[in-house]
Amino acid sequence: LTVSVAAILAEGATRYGDLNAITVDGRSTTYEQLWAQARQYAGALQARGIEAGDRVALLIPNVTDFARAYYAVLALGAVAVPVHALLKAREISYILEDSGAKLLICAAPLLAEGASGATASGVPVLSVLAPEEAGTIRLEDLAREAEPIGTYLPRRPEDLATILYTSGTTGKPKGALGTHLALIEQTHTTLLNTMELRRGDKLFGGLPLFHTFGQTCVLNTGLRVGAEVMLLPKFTAEGALELLLEADIDVFFGVPTMYVALLEAGKQRDGMPEKLRYAISGGASLPVSILTAFEQRFGARIHEGYGLTETSPVACFNHVGVDPRPGTVGTPVWGVDVEIADPACPDEIRLLPRGELGELVVRGHNLFSGYLNRPEATAEAVVDGWFRTGDLGTKDEDGYLRILDRTKDMILRNGYNVYPREIEEVLVSHPEISNAAVYGVPHETHGQEIAASVTLESGSTLSVQELVAWASAQMAAYKYPRLIEIVKEFPLGPSGKILKRELVAQFTAEDA
Ligand code: ATP
Repeated sequence: LTVSVAAILAEGATRYGDLNAITVDGRSTTYEQLWAQARQYAGALQARGIEAGDRVALLIPNVTDFARAYYAVLALGAVAVPVHALLKAREISYILEDSGAKLLICAAPLLAEGASGATASGVPVLSVLAPEEAGTIRLEDLAREAEPIGTYLPRRPEDLATILYTSGTTGKPKGALGTHLALIEQTHTTLLNTMELRRGDKLFGGLPLFHTFGQTCVLNTGLRVGAEVMLLPKFTAEGALELLLEADIDVFFGVPTMYVALLEAGKQRDGMPEKLRYAISGGASLPVSILTAFEQRFGARIHEGYGLTETSPVACFNHVGVDPRPGTVGTPVWGVDVEIADPACPDEIRLLPRGELGELVVRGHNLFSGYLNRPEATAEAVVDGWFRTGDLGTKDEDGYLRILDRTKDMILRNGYNVYPREIEEVLVSHPEISNAAVYGVPHETHGQEIAASVTLESGSTLSVQELVAWASAQMAAYKYPRLIEIVKEFPLGPSGKILKRELVAQFTAEDA
């Protein structure tokens, strides 16, 4: 059996030839053009000595060149290592060294950090989108002179396609190994059985392509089906709203902070999306009140799913075609088992009966094949073929899963388990709170105290005292947040998720 993620674009060129594959800032590239450009880039990379199995890092924002370089690397049978666009030189250098990258392809706007990270690691750089006077070796120039490759190199299912680094909530980022099989299966599964994307659909492309959600669900799945990916080089609420209202987006993809931002921007402007069939949310829990507000304002339903980089990413989903159940992340996707295991048994998987709270574990063709260079972390994470997600949740009689929280985000106050998700749901149900993040901070006598950072709707004059008083009337004494701060914005990770560890650090620092 041979497969390749590059086949997605090669086949796309044959099937969807002159349909638009990618559009950025009004400029479109057809399937045929994109594959021809990827083959040219591959020719240039080959001439530079890149061959099957080599790791090539990509530091490119959401522009067409990401896809050109990504499929070029994969077509050579080499391994793509997309790097978070927000990283600094030191962090980039760590990933280049950990992944054993032979080359970094870096887009002009990110060259300052990229080149200094690469120099520190002794890794050569090829630029894309850089002006001649920048003095870099430009992949575009090499591609013009190189002989394009004929087609892609077939791979074995278990061969590596990508290494995606987790954001490293605990310790250093870990490189999750993605096989061709897992990534291909995931596009088929998400496409055919859950998301029902169609040829010619315009997909919102504001999720970063270096992250698993945007890369698999939007880019790979979109191109597999003949859709047009409408890339947004940098997410802004105004840019997203513009695409949604003016570009006839058929399917929107976002993480919860994007939905909050869209709702806020949507107040300043009239108009409804003309063609939006539905929206997809994942990556973090979406409070039901935000889901409802989005559905009312933009007239389309949100289907929430759940997954991780290690599960390529979708493990469960509120399948399109079935009424979504708000507050749940749906049922396991085709061919994937998601169960609840006893978190107190680290060395074995002891599955719990339906309805009981425990750790989500996942098994199926979508699993990564381990963490690069980290056999111990891999052995801890994958037990008896099950991947331990570190997330707490339940599975009901109908097979629907609910995520309560990450095990490490759970708060233990005075001996009581407190789940931030539940408190966040209550906070955002207040008409003047636009978003909330709840977390535990160290406390001398209680062990931990419950803290919340909230953003307010524009024009709100609510004070911290009023907020605490309101919260205490909504929730039992052991769970309402006594420490609340009003913030203008949240620290966000590269994929747009709220970085709770930074909020905890800020709070602790202010306290000290
Ligand atoms: P790290 O795991 O290192 O913090 P990360 O957050 O970037 O990095 P991802 O693989 O992007 O890693 O995220 C996976 C996590 O996102 C899951 O473990 C889970 O906690 C959270 N998540 C994803 N979807 C949902 C959802 N629908 N509801 C709640 N949490 C979700």
